[in-house]
Amino acid sequence: MIPKVIADARKIVIKLGSNTLALPDGTMNRAFMNEFADQCADLAKAGKQVVLVSSGAQVAGVSTIDRWARKKDIHYRQALCAIGQVELMQNWREAFAARDLHIGQLLLTREDFKDDQRTLNMRNTIFTLVDEGVVPIINENDSVSYEEIRIGDNDNLSALTAILWSADLLILFSDIDGVYDKNPKEHSDAALIPEVKDITELRAGITIGAANSFGTGGIGTKLEAAEKVTAYGIPMLLANGSAPRCLETLATGKSGGTVFLARE
Ligand code: GLU
Repeated sequence: MIPKVIADARKIVIKLGSNTLALPDGTMNRAFMNEFADQCADLAKAGKQVVLVSSGAQVAGVSTIDRWARKKDIHYRQALCAIGQVELMQNWREAFAARDLHIGQLLLTREDFKDDQRTLNMRNTIFTLVDEGVVPIINENDSVSYEEIRIGDNDNLSALTAILWSADLLILFSDIDGVYDKNPKEHSDAALIPEVKDITELRAGITIGAANSFGTGGIGTKLEAAEKVTAYGIPMLLANGSAPRCLETLATGKSGGTVFLARE
């Protein structure tokens, strides 16, 4: 099922969570970023188009400046994102440049998706970048966003992006293998659910735990993202980004995940 979903998609939005992009000590996982850029270059050669939604600004900020890690104050968190976003994109730029690919950065908030003119501009920018072979890399504009205009998590941001760009597929890479019937960190007999047709039914049958170390999402926001895109006819794939060559192994069926089928 997964290899077919990927093979059938030409326009793919891929979201990478902070836990996938950072090493356990909080520094950027450059080896992962290089490997990922390599796999994106292969997709491009195969005629596919990719838009990335990359988290990791805050964790990159902490590892860059080595201060304020425990401060909860929003201004410090925004300052960390302002510092870390540069670091994050510097790493992406080097990783993609080594594969002769340019990248472009878009920083967005919820407000941008509510305003028709801004939405049109974002859409045109993404289409133009992709048409010209440039890889757009999107994150929330954390340093300008406050509670009311915040999307808050990149799972929902990537869903909004997939809808905006009329993508054929959304892939969320996280530190979990997919959706389980029980929390796999607590229950050894938890089973991975390979395919989800009805998200409301799924919600009723699983336990939704809290988010983990660096990420903001957790399974709850992943289901919200799945609800958004599948309603627009876009399937979503949730898989583990820490497996070696995670994109390739998914495409060839060597690794698995959970597919949320698009609603008819
Ligand atoms: N925008 C946040 C960052 O780059 C991450 C949001 C998320 O993890 O969903 O640090």
